[in-house]
Amino acid sequence: LSQLFRPLDMLGWVYRTIRQGVIDMGSMFDLLDAHAEVRDAPNAATLVVTRGHVRFEDVHFGYDPDREILKGIDLDIPAGATVAVVGPSGAGKSTLARLMYRFYDVTGGRITIDDWDIRDVTQASLRGSIGIVPQDTVLFNDTIGYNIAYGREGASDDEIAAAARGAAIAGFIQSLPAGFDTRVGERGLKLSGGEKQRVAIARTLVKDPPILILDEATSALDSRTEADIQATLEAIEHGRTTIVIAHRLSTVVHADRIIVLEAGRVAEQGTHARLLRKNGLYAEMWARQAQERAAEGGEEVPAE
Ligand code: ATP
Repeated sequence: LSQLFRPLDMLGWVYRTIRQGVIDMGSMFDLLDAHAEVRDAPNAATLVVTRGHVRFEDVHFGYDPDREILKGIDLDIPAGATVAVVGPSGAGKSTLARLMYRFYDVTGGRITIDDWDIRDVTQASLRGSIGIVPQDTVLFNDTIGYNIAYGREGASDDEIAAAARGAAIAGFIQSLPAGFDTRVGERGLKLSGGEKQRVAIARTLVKDPPILILDEATSALDSRTEADIQATLEAIEHGRTTIVIAHRLSTVVHADRIIVLEAGRVAEQGTHARLLRKNGLYAEMWARQAQERAAEGGEEVPAE
């Protein structure tokens, strides 16, 4: 009998995840396998985030048992702080975010939020407390208002409008012939990469989570759009614990702390200025990216 119920459970999960609009379809399939192992503990508590203090204590993890990806990560992210995670491709940056959202369970150590081991609370309460602005936002074939309201069931029109203002997309929406009722997605109005990201930000504002994970877009937005979006993101980080998974260093200068991951370990951490002075991996990555920007004729980003 349980064999019959498992796929049904899974479908329910897929449906809820799509409804929450937290991940796109591509990553959905990557995650399905993992989900089977992540279950609520029988007496799981409801997480109520009071401060938003996040800790990783000697976290180990591998997608496959014979290949460890995270090799003992210790992080202490104070309530309300903005922490950026940087490092070479494949270092494990996105994996940290997936573990926090409990798409997978750690294989060693633990992750806590306000001293709760995240395995001891319900997945619903954990995921309700964390907002993710993903790399690529999938829009549903529905109105732009509906796409924003997706952040939280029962959001009112006023809340949707306020979120659109917070994400700096309200002006754009008002310029559309049908305003918030304009249909978007595959069969409707196509939005640009930057506009889609603003919808994702508005969705997160409607959810109003105490903890934010920003998975920075790797696909290039033009530098003006990127700077505008960056300013919007910095505004919504206030009063929330924020983890930025950064693929470009130019966006992390303002972070309270930068964590440099290398091959599944924390290689360095500190502020931008301190890490530059240290002259280690971060300083090297910064110099390389500055050269690339100069070669592309882009604007110089001040070092401090
Ligand atoms: P990038 O900057 O390129 O996005 P990242 O630092 O975010 O890289 P992760 O996505 O965390 O890196 O991946 C870390 C390692 O885990 C990589 O070697 C990757 O191949 C592996 N990995 C990621 N997802 C899976 C998966 N679903 N199954 C197996 N291995 C995976």
